[in-house]
Amino acid sequence: MNQAFEAKLRGDLESLKRAGTYKRLRHITTPMAPEVRMEEAGDVIVLSSNNYLGLADQSEVVEAGKRGLDQYGAGTASVRFICGTFDIHRTLEERIAAFLGTDASLSYVACWNANTGLFATICDQGSAIVSDELNHASIIDGVRLASKARRERYKHSDMQQLREKLEAVKECFPIVVVTDGVFSMEGDLAKLPEIVGLAKEYGAIVVVDDSHGTGVMGKTGRGTIEHYDLTGKVDVITGTLGKALGGAAGGFVAGSAALIDTLIQRSRPQLFSNALPATVACSSLAAIDYLDSHPELVGILRENTAYFRAGLERIGYRPLPGESAIVPIIVGETAFAITISDALLKRGVFVTGFGFPVVPEGTARIRVQISAALTKDEMDRALSAFEDVGKAVGILGKP
Ligand SMILES: *Cc1c(COP(=O)(O)O)cnc(C)c1O
Repeated sequence: MNQAFEAKLRGDLESLKRAGTYKRLRHITTPMAPEVRMEEAGDVIVLSSNNYLGLADQSEVVEAGKRGLDQYGAGTASVRFICGTFDIHRTLEERIAAFLGTDASLSYVACWNANTGLFATICDQGSAIVSDELNHASIIDGVRLASKARRERYKHSDMQQLREKLEAVKECFPIVVVTDGVFSMEGDLAKLPEIVGLAKEYGAIVVVDDSHGTGVMGKTGRGTIEHYDLTGKVDVITGTLGKALGGAAGGFVAGSAALIDTLIQRSRPQLFSNALPATVACSSLAAIDYLDSHPELVGILRENTAYFRAGLERIGYRPLPGESAIVPIIVGETAFAITISDALLKRGVFVTGFGFPVVPEGTARIRVQISAALTKDEMDRALSAFEDVGKAVGILGKP
């Protein structure tokens, strides 16, 4: 190893530790569920997973994955266009399209890959991409890869500025407006009715990454687009199979048949990276089927979220308002957020603190994520830990 390089890496890591922003991995030894066993902390209630509907350890979902492993083996050993396309990919992709109300869809090994494969494929010289400043990192990187396109950013959910940016790029073609459906650090929803309206005015297409909205928003869990009654009015939807829909891995792009065929032909992650493992396709398919036949899960998630929010407010916390299952509590400095999440972990509640540079300086937060699988008892125990810790660290007044 190059000694100077090693010393640089160690120095950089030391400064993260001094700043209180160094991440320590924690090791779980049981399936993802409302309560897990953690090597470092014992039995804990999880309020930081994306397992919104509790499908990660749902027996139908797990069994489907096992059957997939038996039927198709461990992997595809190929990219899609060579010999990595199995019949289950087609079944899953037709199912996703039907679920979201689009013509077609295409799976990727992660939504990260879907986003990094999308923009560079559809935006060439002369095109433009207009993006919300708080969009997910995978959108930001995906947009960067479309290096020939004109790229503009608007202030978070600022529709006046979105209009100005669209005006500035109106000679470009195509024009793409891209937004998260549910913003992951704020838990708020994109103003999709306005965005779709503006896009129409300027002849732009709309891409919504609904990774935190799928399975969560809308009456039947079809996402933020269903929530706003805009089904069929959004051109492109990207999303993950790694959150509410079973939580394994995998992502997708859903849209018109011509768009999906174009991605099959030219999207670089499709051409140069392995296909989604068949076993994951099987468990994800079972997760969508399960959600379809148990739409009440979405209502339970909403009730749990309302219950936990009300509990936090009763104790004296002031979470950011919002309609999704993400409940952020702004606490100020990064190191403080980490102190609080460490104290909660000692009390058996696993919830993550986020600070700079993931969120702007001074707006570090504890991000609570609710699951339909949480029981009242688990939520009450978690709330009692929040109360004790809040008093101990002085954000709720002294005990
Ligand atoms: C989580 C998330 C992703 C990444 O999904 P993976 O399938 O884990 O790569 C992409 N976009 C958004 C908005 C997300 O919240």
